[in-house]
Amino acid sequence: MKQHPEEQNIRQNFEPGKISKDGFLGGDTRHIHDIIREDQRTLSRLGLSREMVAQRLQWMIEEGKKGLEGVVDKGDFTIQVRWARGMVSCPFGESGLHHKLMVTVFLKKLTKEMKYTQLSVHMIAEHGFFGGKQSTYRLDPEKLGLLVELGKE
Ligand SMILES: [Zn+2]
Repeated sequence: MKQHPEEQNIRQNFEPGKISKDGFLGGDTRHIHDIIREDQRTLSRLGLSREMVAQRLQWMIEEGKKGLEGVVDKGDFTIQVRWARGMVSCPFGESGLHHKLMVTVFLKKLTKEMKYTQLSVHMIAEHGFFGGKQSTYRLDPEKLGLLVELGKE
């Protein structure tokens, strides 16, 4: 498939050092639309929508903020939110800035940790983008399924 010149420009935003030190692709050479499409398929198979997942991730941010950068214990998991100075733009190139906020969720039973940012939630909600394979902040849809399950009260 031929790439539109604008898409070429957007792709640069995903490379390391442009918006994020590590970039958003982690060496994944697939076209961004193909990455999105594959994750969308996984989500559908799990019976999830990106809105459900984004809402859940945002809820964790809101709960985590209550800890004022300390660890918030929610029973099956803990949440910690840390702030960094400044704002960050979205690699998809539209206008608007996002807080540099980093969340760590620790799933006790699985002894698994997930890290994401406010920008990750935005990219899932608005663009269906979960990150390239092996990228630092990739949120694997399969793992996100666990988070959504845990949250059912
Ligand atoms: Zn965006």
